[in-house]
Amino acid sequence: MLLWELFILAYGLIKITPNNPDNLIKMIKTVDLVKVFRTDEVETTALNKVNIEVQDGEFVAVMGPSGCGKSTLLNILGLLDNPSGGSYLFGETEVAGLKEKQRTNLRKGNIGFVFQSFNLIDELSVYENIELPLLYLKMSASERKKKVEDVMERMKIIHRRNHFPQQLSGGQQQRVAIARAVVTNPKLILADEPTGNLDSANGAEVMALLTELNEDGTTIIMVTHSPSDAEKAHRIIQLFDGHIVTENIQKKL
Ligand code: ADP
Repeated sequence: MLLWELFILAYGLIKITPNNPDNLIKMIKTVDLVKVFRTDEVETTALNKVNIEVQDGEFVAVMGPSGCGKSTLLNILGLLDNPSGGSYLFGETEVAGLKEKQRTNLRKGNIGFVFQSFNLIDELSVYENIELPLLYLKMSASERKKKVEDVMERMKIIHRRNHFPQQLSGGQQQRVAIARAVVTNPKLILADEPTGNLDSANGAEVMALLTELNEDGTTIIMVTHSPSDAEKAHRIIQLFDGHIVTENIQKKL
């Protein structure tokens, strides 16, 4: 082996040692992200030059008073909406300004959503609700069955597979919603007040599931009003009037 090849190999090994901060892989980077909503009479700046970086494997909580831009931020980070200005890098891809179809393609399989109101489809069973994202990915029936059953087992809802959402408690519905969000094995989960409609016992269970998913490697960004839920995150980003006021590191990744 040539000397320079040895050098490159040694450099590579140093780069991948676990404690090297260079090893943290950036999943999200926004630069001066702006979102303005315009109607005939009013113009609202919902996000005003927001700069965020999220590393692969992080669990980030976003807090702030009602109307400060949390949902707008989550919608843009989740590729549901485009910013009016600034840059948004999702992995290596600049996504600000992508067409809706391109955003949808990038979202599929990469990003899972969990909402306060669960957003399950009432006419579909637990099994069918969870299977839905896999149908969009055009997966074979046998592969779908295996994935749905695995995730139902993991979320402890397999005994409810033929029930419909209205036959379940809030906590069970949110477990189904989380199962649907993770069945495609997404890199990123975006959760908008996931415990907002739950009592404390069910809320704690949902937070335990999210924490477990994060420990298994899924990056999570969660909007919450609950200080105790936010404590489960590595970091809290506080928004006020469309911009970040504080970022507080709670735990090391
Ligand atoms: P939060 O989630 O923190 O409550 P939002 O992101 O929902 O805040 O809203 C931020 C601001 O943007 C608010 O002033 C809200 O009224 C405004 N806004 C949000 N969505 C729209 C929309 N589709 N059209 C017009 N204004 C909007």
